[in-house]
Amino acid sequence: MQCARHPQVETFVRCGKCDQPICPSCMIAGPVGVRCRDCSRQNLDAIMRGSPRQYLLAAVWAFGSALLLGWLTHVSFFWFWLGGVYGYAVGEATLRGGGRKRGLAMQIIAGVAAAAGSVAWTMPPAVLLARPEVLVSLLTNPWTLVGLGIGVVFSVMHVRYI
Ligand SMILES: [Zn+2]
Ligand SMILES: [Zn+2]
Repeated sequence: MQCARHPQVETFVRCGKCDQPICPSCMIAGPVGVRCRDCSRQNLDAIMRGSPRQYLLAAVWAFGSALLLGWLTHVSFFWFWLGGVYGYAVGEATLRGGGRKRGLAMQIIAGVAAAAGSVAWTMPPAVLLARPEVLVSLLTNPWTLVGLGIGVVFSVMHVRYI
């Protein structure tokens, strides 16, 4: 038996999906066994591409959790690492809402939601005091920015890798 792409190479392995003979340089070991390059790319697409409904649910979950937990990015100083917990939670909510689909669009949903949730929690004091400049001073507070930044990074990382 010869590799489908390299007729000069003798092989004993077939792709687990389309059954064509593949040599060591053509085969890709995945979670469900050995695949040829084409089939393994299709598998990856299936993980990376969600349905419109999944993106919608991912956004609902992402923004819901961000609005619920956004205060975690404002406890400042000493507790700035809670931004990481916040980001992880928003990322996890995005994955659950979106049926654990990943890919760039999901990362953007998680990151935007994490940023929005953090900013939303700077609003109550500004509105309560009826002073817009409070909003500005909170948003230019370095610890708020650190919390926000860490939150966004962790949410995107969680959707991307872990
Ligand atoms: Zn194949
Ligand atoms: Zn080959």
